[in-house]
Amino acid sequence: MRILYPFAQRFIAGEDRKTALKNIQSIYKSGYLSTVDVLGENVFTEAQASDARDEYLNLLKDSETLHFPLDLSVKLTSLGLNINYEICKKNVEDILNAAGQHTVRFDMEGSDCTERTVNLCLELHEPHNNLGLVLQSYLRRTEADVDRVIQNQISTRLCKGAYQEPADIAFQSMTEVRENFLKQARRLLKEGYLPAIATHDEVLIQTLLEFIKQESIPPQSFYFELLYGVRRDLQKILLDKGYRVRIYVPYGKAWLPYTLRRLAERKENILFVVKNLIRETFGMSKIH
Ligand SMILES: Cc1cc2nc3c(=O)[nH]c(=O)nc-3n(C[C@H](O)[C@H](O)[C@H](O)COP(=O)(O)OP(=O)(O)OC[C@H]3O[C@@H](n4cnc5c(N)ncnc54)[C@H](O)[C@@H]3O)c2cc1C
Repeated sequence: MRILYPFAQRFIAGEDRKTALKNIQSIYKSGYLSTVDVLGENVFTEAQASDARDEYLNLLKDSETLHFPLDLSVKLTSLGLNINYEICKKNVEDILNAAGQHTVRFDMEGSDCTERTVNLCLELHEPHNNLGLVLQSYLRRTEADVDRVIQNQISTRLCKGAYQEPADIAFQSMTEVRENFLKQARRLLKEGYLPAIATHDEVLIQTLLEFIKQESIPPQSFYFELLYGVRRDLQKILLDKGYRVRIYVPYGKAWLPYTLRRLAERKENILFVVKNLIRETFGMSKIH
């Protein structure tokens, strides 16, 4: 699968921590904040889960000299959720205890993890109010989860959702996913605590910009979040309008599942990979 690496490079900030931190610093110099994801998911041994936790701890140690706060995006299945809930909880607590000025956020994975992810967040938010969550507008249950994060004032990123989910639990049409995104985003913006609007969908962003203006929602009370390497033009437009923009910055060697999700999101991405594959296979490089 190394053949996909040229494509993956566009979406990841390096395979190692040092390179990622350099990128995070230059992102900050350009005016953006970062939420950092150590790539990896679905580990099956305790040792792998400890390695993932240690990478976050080392990242926090190496970030001590940064003059700005980071958000850490954490996938619970990389910390052992599918091995044992208690092992996963202990790994998360180690990260939360070391986080200091930084915030930690549970990425939302496939629907088999949703209930456990929400529950662990509710359980740990009480002693650790620097813990946040992600909710997906394609899930029918999200309206009820938004009630819970508003009630508990948990900082929540709202995204559409990146996994294949069945119709009984998830909206299948883009119209419904978008409608629910707008509905839940409006609620989070009005009543939530430091929500993040995570989309590159211009129709959604434009509609929410109008809502924000109409309701006089202060720019310091929420974030826009976009993925590293996606729609840099939009990132800049939002920044120039005076909004806080946070970039989702993944790094690490386990880039394949993340890259495959980005690949599936756009047919142009598949064409890019196919073109590179043909160029490489048939020696069609333009440089001779
Ligand atoms: C900050 C952030 C964090 C996220 N965290 C999670 C999470 O925890 N769990 C989860 O399930 N999902 C997560 N996602 C992914 C999300 O659920 C969507 O799959 C993804 O954002 C694409 O949906 P969209 O809203 O951007 O709209 P789309 O309609 O898919 O895209 C709108 C436009 O953005 C551009 N674009 C979008 N994706 C790509 C791409 N891959 N390559 C090139 N251009 C692209 C295109 O111009 C496209 O027309 C996250 C997304 C963001 C931005």
